[in-house]
Amino acid sequence: MAYNKPLPDLENEVEAPHWQAAKQGRLSVQRCSECGYLRWPPETICPECLARGGDWVDLKGEGEIWSFAVYYRAMNPAFADEVPYAVAIVRLSEGIEMIGRIKGSPDQISIGDKVRAVFVPVTDEVTLVQWEPAR
Ligand SMILES: [Zn+2]
Repeated sequence: MAYNKPLPDLENEVEAPHWQAAKQGRLSVQRCSECGYLRWPPETICPECLARGGDWVDLKGEGEIWSFAVYYRAMNPAFADEVPYAVAIVRLSEGIEMIGRIKGSPDQISIGDKVRAVFVPVTDEVTLVQWEPAR
């Protein structure tokens, strides 16, 4: 069955390295080559020191739920068959936050729960990063 949900723009040069890494099962974010600041989402300029560019580094893919919301109504009709589902702010062990989908029943999660990244291939080209409880 065709995947009919929104997809990232793989042609976006700023974000492309993240999606290439995800396809290989790696959680990769930018690190400023001047000040070392880890940044997500990717940017062309460091918000801390205004240096251009940066390197890409792999993270452990471990964190905890800092906050979350449970969607009972789909904001996009493409997700109607998946409600209810949880979207969380995950604080990674490296100190940055990412927003992502928590796999499984939203009834089973709490703030502070440990989670780990999982890589979900949805098309031949795109693998999404989601999170699952690390129990
Ligand atoms: Zn910087």
